[in-house]
Amino acid sequence: MILTVLGSGAALPTGHRCCSAQVLNVNGFKMLIDCAEGTQNGIRRMRFRLQSISTILISHLHGDHFFGLPGLLSTMHLCGRTEPATVVAPVGAREVIETTFRLTGNNISYPIEWHEMDFTEGLHRVFENAKCTVDAFPLTHSVPTYGFLVGDRPEGSRGRLRYAYCCDTVYTEAILPYVEGVDLLCLESTFTDEYAPLAEKRLHLTAGQAARLAAQAGARQLLLTHISARYKEPDLLLSQAQAHFPNTTVAADGLRLDLRASARHE
Ligand SMILES: [Zn+2]
Ligand SMILES: [Zn+2]
Repeated sequence: MILTVLGSGAALPTGHRCCSAQVLNVNGFKMLIDCAEGTQNGIRRMRFRLQSISTILISHLHGDHFFGLPGLLSTMHLCGRTEPATVVAPVGAREVIETTFRLTGNNISYPIEWHEMDFTEGLHRVFENAKCTVDAFPLTHSVPTYGFLVGDRPEGSRGRLRYAYCCDTVYTEAILPYVEGVDLLCLESTFTDEYAPLAEKRLHLTAGQAARLAAQAGARQLLLTHISARYKEPDLLLSQAQAHFPNTTVAADGLRLDLRASARHE
């Protein structure tokens, strides 16, 4: 399982951080997780074949996670796609995309299979194939938002690798049962700890809060993402997190993490 970060910034894109998007490669099967504006540029920059991505997971409908989707789906059409694409997203996403395509005269040439999420508790299977399973669970944010738990289906005796993505959310221990013991836990970390009141008001996490959640969850490794544009350097976020959870990395656009390699370090 290899994670590639395409965008690691919070709401405002900057010269060095695009907004949220990641590609997760599970034994050769590639899925996109979140799709901010500019994600298709990131896909090309990191040399993924556009048409090799067939499944897209959207955490919530805030623009910094979703506004790249119509452009990406449209470009797949322009490049001659015939294979179906699957989109897992909160309810409402399909209406936005279909309305956009209808009003802008885009006739998409390939089938889009929609799985819209509309639940407020529990863990729900939202996708599976021969390579992996994806389950979703609710986060606490200003609009309906879902975390994702991806598990591979290993061949042979190797244990299962599991990756969890939680972005965006306020501090909540309700997520702990879903992300317990994962190999890599990716949490949003919009702010440093001195902005805790603002983080609570805007329903985001600080670095220290994210690290406390990772420690309680018993994760192997923590990845902080959704970094506010106010931080030019990630040093303070990293040190505040490592005070609670040493095995922390702050995401950067273009960062690649091999979950198997990080699991073997233990
Ligand atoms: Zn966001
Ligand atoms: Zn948000």
